[in-house]
Amino acid sequence: MSNRLPLILANWKMNKNRSEIREFLQAITGKLPLTDLLQVGVAAQSVYLEKMVDYVKQHQVPLDIFSENLFYVNHGSYTGETSPAALVDIGVKGSIIGHYERRKLFKESNGAVGLKVAASLGNGLLPVVAISEDTATYDPNDIEMSPLTEIAISFAGIDKKWASKIVIAYEPAWAIGSDRTPTLTEIEHAAKVIRKSLTFIFGSTSANQIRIQYGGAVTPHNAKAIFALPNIDGLLIGRSSLAADNFLRIIDDVL
Ligand code: PEP
Repeated sequence: MSNRLPLILANWKMNKNRSEIREFLQAITGKLPLTDLLQVGVAAQSVYLEKMVDYVKQHQVPLDIFSENLFYVNHGSYTGETSPAALVDIGVKGSIIGHYERRKLFKESNGAVGLKVAASLGNGLLPVVAISEDTATYDPNDIEMSPLTEIAISFAGIDKKWASKIVIAYEPAWAIGSDRTPTLTEIEHAAKVIRKSLTFIFGSTSANQIRIQYGGAVTPHNAKAIFALPNIDGLLIGRSSLAADNFLRIIDDVL
């Protein structure tokens, strides 16, 4: 049994407007478990984050608010970017970094991901670093290669003192937005390979503190079994987090 605190994080992407967000938050108010066995969060579009933070504070909802991206500089002439310091200023807990969609659609490089991880940690934000193998289907050789390159570059230069603050979300590209997931054996294997590579970078004590989530086609039907895998420390959930009842059901099931 590890002492890593599992994190269930919703990734709403560019879905939900102001009134839909309010409805969701009202629907979960008073229904999330008050527990120190699980951390629960929602990542949403930056424009809504401050209102969300205010709502959860005011209604004492045990929910952390995350951004879906950030920039790696706090101040200056970077038109259109979101400053880590600004996220801290409004009470955001952390940020997804390097989601597959950002890497693919916005050409975000491993180097940029690394800078964002450092900026995030330096500002006291939790980085949820998404890594994936970009193949059309499960390929046992690929898990040995491309996520590991992503890890090696993203964490080069990060001090091991930050290990307990780092979250990695393993999301196979082909599972995101699909109705297919790897088998439980494949997910556990991938998480082990990832942890082994973290051991090379940070040493085993620190590598064992890093949380590894699974993401990609998680539903109320498969969440519990994936969550229970020994090297998996939570879930990153897209579509199944959009309806409050599905989200609550998943949380209820895994506890
Ligand atoms: C995601 O893109 O982060 C994700 C987990 O998506 P979905 O659950 O919808 O596959």
